[in-house]
Amino acid sequence: MGANEILKALNDSGLILSLVGESIRVAPPQKLTDEFRAMIREHKAALVALLRKPNDPPPTTAHEFFSVYGVWPWVPKWQESHPGRVSLVPEIVDGMFFHWCPECGRWAASGDVFNPAKGKLGYWWCARHDPTQAQNGHSGAFHLGRNSVMV
Ligand SMILES: [Zn+2]
Repeated sequence: MGANEILKALNDSGLILSLVGESIRVAPPQKLTDEFRAMIREHKAALVALLRKPNDPPPTTAHEFFSVYGVWPWVPKWQESHPGRVSLVPEIVDGMFFHWCPECGRWAASGDVFNPAKGKLGYWWCARHDPTQAQNGHSGAFHLGRNSVMV
């Protein structure tokens, strides 16, 4: 059985494998049998190679970011650029609203077209890359009810 067949068998059983650094993360844990665990361990190198596809789409959510980088997107210093954060879409996670600059991956403090009542999380940029700043000087973080945001 090759790595492709093993991965398919695991997926067919409802298991999702993802790469975290050099480790394989398996979810959900309650579906991981001893047999599957042994199978993954035996073929780990081939599975890691298979999971590390160079043409993988970049992460768009915090969970995808975590599966690629092994940390949450807010863990690396938020005021510094990060290549993995440029593809993230604005997202509410555990009551926190996260939005990153699509140019550099820094925390994006300036937003536009933000209307959570209509499900629009808007477009956000850091001060350096804000295309709207020249027109109206609009910037700042929006607060969502009792939840707080990083500013
Ligand atoms: Zn930026």
